[in-house]
Amino acid sequence: MTLNVVKGKFMWAKLTKKEQLTEDLWKMWLKPEEKFDFKPGQYCTIGSGGIERAYSIASSPDEDQIELFIELVPPPDGNLTPLLNELNVGDTVTMRLRAKGIFVLKPEFKNHVMVGTVTGVAPYVSMMRKHLKESESSDKNFIILEGASYLDEFGYDEELMLLDKSNNNVTFEASVSRPDEERNDSWTGYKGRVNNILLDRLDEWGLNPSETIVYACGHPGMIEDVKEKLENSDYTFLEERFWKD
Ligand SMILES: Cc1cc2nc3c(=O)[nH]c(=O)nc-3n(C[C@H](O)[C@H](O)[C@H](O)COP(=O)(O)OP(=O)(O)OC[C@H]3O[C@@H](n4cnc5c(N)ncnc54)[C@H](O)[C@@H]3O)c2cc1C
Repeated sequence: MTLNVVKGKFMWAKLTKKEQLTEDLWKMWLKPEEKFDFKPGQYCTIGSGGIERAYSIASSPDEDQIELFIELVPPPDGNLTPLLNELNVGDTVTMRLRAKGIFVLKPEFKNHVMVGTVTGVAPYVSMMRKHLKESESSDKNFIILEGASYLDEFGYDEELMLLDKSNNNVTFEASVSRPDEERNDSWTGYKGRVNNILLDRLDEWGLNPSETIVYACGHPGMIEDVKEKLENSDYTFLEERFWKD
């Protein structure tokens, strides 16, 4: 997408805070010029240097800043992320005026299984921050299953573990796909790709498939595999692919 600034379509958003998790993963907070309405699970479109990309929003609509969780795609493949990685607090990006996306919580289901890879956890964080507080959520179950190569890539594990501890209807589980590497030496949780452990976890959780929606977000390979695995089941499936394989 080449940016062609048209009045009424874009606004500026200022970078107010940046938190580097690893060399190629960071969170950033943007303060848009105008109020930015969105539903938890939706994405915003930001741009710099004439390049625009979509980013799922991790913050709740109740917060006054837009929080994003971003992974660097190094050059020469990556276009916008190398530019975003260089931004400093006080710099600005463009932001499309409207949020988009249909990857939002489906309230008609009792059980919500949220599967994500690394930055794919962002929409679930937004959903949990917003919907968990609502009274109609008390009779729903939320299970977040996040996968990453390394234990330092989960991004929101502390926040989600806290929700798991303090709410009977929230479960957070995480799995590393490269358990034998030194960087994962202290890992004691699940091992393997989330798409490979999902069916076993579903058996263990014992949810009624017809009352359960499985969301999958992030890596297209993970999403395709989960989709195939659930194809002939009574689980409902909803996906958000961050890029094409
Ligand atoms: C609805 C939606 C929501 C998204 N939300 C997020 C988000 O919350 N956080 C986030 O980091 N990204 C997210 N993305 C991906 C984002 O839009 C960019 O594609 C990504 O940041 C890379 O941008 P780029 O310009 O550097 O590289 P691009 O020019 O977009 O991509 C270059 C190449 O890398 C591939 N690629 C893109 N992303 C990745 C990746 N993460 N890992 C490996 N290969 C990749 C592409 O297929 C392409 O071949 C989302 C995408 C969509 C469609």
